Amino acid sequence: MKRIYLDYAATTPTDPEVVKAMLPYFTEDFANPSSIYFCGQEAKGAVEEARVKVADLIGARDEEIVFTSGGTEADNFALKGVAFANESKGNHIITSSIEHHAVVETCRFLEERGFKVTCLPVDGYGLVDPGDVKRAITDKTILISVMHANNEVGTIEPIAEIGKSAREAGIYFHTDAVQTVGHIPVDVNELGVDLLSISAHKLYGPKGVGALYIRKSTKLLSFMHGGEQERRRRASTENVPGIVGFGRAAELAQHEMSQEAEQLTHLRDKLINGILERMDHTHLKGHPSRRLPNNVNISVEFVEGESMCLNLDLEGICASTGSACSSSSLEPSHVLLAMGISNEQAHSSLRFTLGKWTTEEEIDRVLEVLPRIVSKLRAISPFLKSGTSG
Ligand code: PLP
Repeated sequence: MKRIYLDYAATTPTDPEVVKAMLPYFTEDFANPSSIYFCGQEAKGAVEEARVKVADLIGARDEEIVFTSGGTEADNFALKGVAFANESKGNHIITSSIEHHAVVETCRFLEERGFKVTCLPVDGYGLVDPGDVKRAITDKTILISVMHANNEVGTIEPIAEIGKSAREAGIYFHTDAVQTVGHIPVDVNELGVDLLSISAHKLYGPKGVGALYIRKSTKLLSFMHGGEQERRRRASTENVPGIVGFGRAAELAQHEMSQEAEQLTHLRDKLINGILERMDHTHLKGHPSRRLPNNVNISVEFVEGESMCLNLDLEGICASTGSACSSSSLEPSHVLLAMGISNEQAHSSLRFTLGKWTTEEEIDRVLEVLPRIVSKLRAISPFLKSGTSG
């Protein structure tokens, strides 16, 4: 059976061009970038070249990029790093109620250690109100962290507006841009952020590598101690093949992003409209226009998201009920609940995320298969009220 992969927000396939760029760094140019002999310096050169490419993609300077093991580490580094380095100034952090677990759990960790966290609400589309951010600022606030776009519902947050308030108040501003970098234009100066998290495996790069953008002169405590790598900001021998792959992925994204976004927006809207037209009691979750070009999140009333996912899997279609990290949990998504969606609707959500290899035929196939699955499941659904048509 030909598989249809529609879970690009969980991870993307690595672009063959990226793999090609990485390969020599496993077997030929494998030297440690800290070694002073020629091969070591060649590896160091490759790391620095990749740093420039990643920096270029987000309008940063290369010395403002620190490579990490991924998005989770970048989020941890930003939040813990700023919190512990600025404790003498204050202990208050502002974040939103729809953040990824990498931010949610780091905030919880900081709260247990005496920091105060204000978790802002969102509206029915998952949007944070920049006015709420402004009103939450106190003289103890040291950091604001609001994600650029949500991984479950695809809503794009008003980061530039929040950045303006943060700048005016002289407070550090972090954004988790794991779902946006390489997919929509991201410029650290236009957004007004001091810290920004990226993960390579969400933009056709390899897993296990990411970066934290750190604006020059940001006061941040390192939490990986050891060697002097990454200008003493993150010890450990560099993941050279991973970093080279990340650089190549960033370079490809520069060239392909706008055309890809156009193509994905067309396929996304075809899938959204096709589902809403073909099935009653289906609702789009997330913002209709301030939305990632590849995200479709629909709730299908009277049916469990997990049942739809398993049935789609039997037809060779990979989709998700929420974020990959929570797909093993039966708790409804904290993102959907924060948006004011009922427990029942949150349980009936289904997420398709598209990518550069998604085709029109694949979307047609989902539109053919899904209504069949839904009517089968509704026929045996204990949630379907009598008298309601499936
Ligand atoms: N932040 C967001 C918004 C994500 O979607 C993810 C991954 O799903 C992460 C952080 C974590 O990134 P990584 O898997 O590279 O640790």
